Amino acid sequence: MEFELPSLEELRENAFVVRLPLRVMFRGVVQREALLLQGPAGWGEFSPFLEYGPAESSRWLAAGIESAYQPYPQTTVTQIPVNATLPAVTPEQVARVLGQYDEPHTIKIKVAEAGQILQDDIARVAETRRLYPDAKLRVDANAGWTLDQAVPALSRLSEYDLEYAEQPVPEIADLARLRERLAARGVQLKIAADESVRKHTDPVEVARVGAADLIVIKAQPLGGIAAALDVVQQAGLDAVVSSALDTSIGLGQATALAASLPELKYACGLSTGTLYKDDISEEPLIAQAGYLKVGRPSVSRAKIRHYSVEPDAYDWWMRRLAASYAHLQEQSQTDSSFTCS
Ligand SMILES: [Mg+2]
Repeated sequence: MEFELPSLEELRENAFVVRLPLRVMFRGVVQREALLLQGPAGWGEFSPFLEYGPAESSRWLAAGIESAYQPYPQTTVTQIPVNATLPAVTPEQVARVLGQYDEPHTIKIKVAEAGQILQDDIARVAETRRLYPDAKLRVDANAGWTLDQAVPALSRLSEYDLEYAEQPVPEIADLARLRERLAARGVQLKIAADESVRKHTDPVEVARVGAADLIVIKAQPLGGIAAALDVVQQAGLDAVVSSALDTSIGLGQATALAASLPELKYACGLSTGTLYKDDISEEPLIAQAGYLKVGRPSVSRAKIRHYSVEPDAYDWWMRRLAASYAHLQEQSQTDSSFTCS
């Protein structure tokens, strides 16, 4: 459904910027900044990572506006399965980090972290398998390997019975080559494309060249629920809904996306609420026994006030909002196929 873009003034007047504390380092940060939008349908989140420019950030803004101005799709699904996430910690830290999750049935393990070696990944995956013999384990390399590193690494790691490996290498063409090389070695391991799926054209390319068995979709980077569902349809591949380390507001939008998928085969990567020390909700979206409630969380004004950023950071986010908005507006005027719903 297409709808009118609200004015920048209106967005500014209803915007709050918070900085929330994280429990562990994630993408090199121990805190997460987010701009929160209040609109007629509820709250929306705009939290592109700090280094992202206006073009990339504009899709995150489209998602935030969709969430604040559009009701979520109607669905009968009330809860969705989610995976626990294990950052690139030492084997000694595995039990403590995963102990924060309530009975994880599926665990995503970060691998290929800069500054670490394959032995670190093997030790982390082995310890996780030892502690959770019956859980589904998947690894995420965040494009951290070269093709020549990924082949032996995944050959070794696949011995621990993995559900799939997410974005082992950066390039779509190399993902396809990797799948061929693993098959030639007799390694049975599904490959998921994550970072390769950021534009509407990418999933079609991923599917066309046989680069992945499934795609990871995220509501914010793809421009919202409707845009992400469109991507899944175009790709014709299975999809895993994941978070962009969103606050409970972005997570709520992502649960609505997952609940709207034609088929939900894989546990979602939406248990990242556990990585926050605190959130903007008195009832943060945290999984219970590996399941997350679908829908919008309650939002606490007191918490938003408590975690509000200082004026300099607020101004920086307002400039960022304006630049992303300008990009979105330009796109909506020049591209007739563009909708921000
Ligand atoms: Mg990933």
